[in-house]
Amino acid sequence: MPERDHSPLHREIESREADLVALTRDLIRFPTINPPGEAYRDCAEFIGKRLQARGFRVDYVRAFGSPGDTETHPRWNVVARRTGLRPGPCVHFNSHIDVVQTGAGWSMDPFAGVVRDGKVYGRGACDMKGGLAASIVAIEALIDSGADLPGALELSGTVDEESGGFGGVHYLAERGWFSPPRVDHVIIPEPLNVDRVCIGHRGVWWAEIETHGRIAHGSMPFLGDCAVRHMHAVIDRFERDLYPRLAARHTTMPVVPPGARQSTLNINSIHGGHAEIATGFPAACVPDSCRMIIDRRLLAEESLDGVKAELRALLDQLSLEREGFRYGLRDLFEVAPTLTDRDGPVAAATASAIRRVLGREPEFICSPGTYDQKHIDRIGKLKDCIAYGPGILDLAHQPDEYVRIDDMVNAAKVMATAAWGLLDPGS
Ligand SMILES: [Zn+2]
Repeated sequence: MPERDHSPLHREIESREADLVALTRDLIRFPTINPPGEAYRDCAEFIGKRLQARGFRVDYVRAFGSPGDTETHPRWNVVARRTGLRPGPCVHFNSHIDVVQTGAGWSMDPFAGVVRDGKVYGRGACDMKGGLAASIVAIEALIDSGADLPGALELSGTVDEESGGFGGVHYLAERGWFSPPRVDHVIIPEPLNVDRVCIGHRGVWWAEIETHGRIAHGSMPFLGDCAVRHMHAVIDRFERDLYPRLAARHTTMPVVPPGARQSTLNINSIHGGHAEIATGFPAACVPDSCRMIIDRRLLAEESLDGVKAELRALLDQLSLEREGFRYGLRDLFEVAPTLTDRDGPVAAATASAIRRVLGREPEFICSPGTYDQKHIDRIGKLKDCIAYGPGILDLAHQPDEYVRIDDMVNAAKVMATAAWGLLDPGS
């Protein structure tokens, strides 16, 4: 069989650079800040209208009742599907349209879509409207190339990824939008660099530990029992026992940066004792409660049950050793680690496309934090999912966030090539 000639497709994408830049700027101009979830509907309709004009069937799905969904801030998602003339698999590109707060330190308007020195700047430029624009231009160019594409091409713009994805991919996955046989392969264009294929992410467990004490007058602390001192004992045990153990636990997952190839635990916050009274005067009381929020990240080699049992054992041990130590432990959020096969169809097709477009070996990586792949894997029961997209992850959520235009063009070529190969491997 003669080798497929990709050069016309790649030239076609190169010729659409101005369109790709304009589309990225248009997307950045929707201030889809989450929380609270601004301009979701406008942004979803903008994407939907563009693809409808290209022959896609477009559905708008509002995540009624999901966290934050109100009449002022409705959670609107868009899913566009174009079916070929022959049966075949479905390749789906999923991007979140929400962005985080702008924060301080910008040298320009974060929602103007400024173009300078081969880069498009703005909140969401890198995470991940640049990736969304690249995937739209990729599938449009693939369709226009005249290739006889079997199966279906799908693209979704979903909300609330930055707050857990409950009104977005989670909601859609629960209703079958991300399950076989409707969808077979998913690419999420998160900003992980144009030559890297992200095959999964570590898991997460957020929890609250509370130590209990007994209130008394601050001048006679011996009559009470200080919950903050009990919390200190917890932290001391973390330092001496838990942290060394976590640091020694390594994973075979190719997590980047390499520092995240071990189990980690962050102390997100501590709240203890009574607030100062309105005049700014301290409350003269012994704290009867202290709460700590922890962020424990898990490796593929660990289980959520094991991680929880490890912490509980540490706290139970303290209860035996320390007089008056009483605690509560409350789950806040959890996600199991996710890892797809690097030899699976979507990872292999994307890796092969990177070799073809960039002429170098792709790197397989895992993300230290989670993204919407968790819902596609766990709820949608769809394993063949990766993240691949233009942009540098370190720039995400930063002031003066940008995406390089040449990276977007290359990523669009990789996406179009990968999708073509997945839809029609034979011809
Ligand atoms: Zn993102």
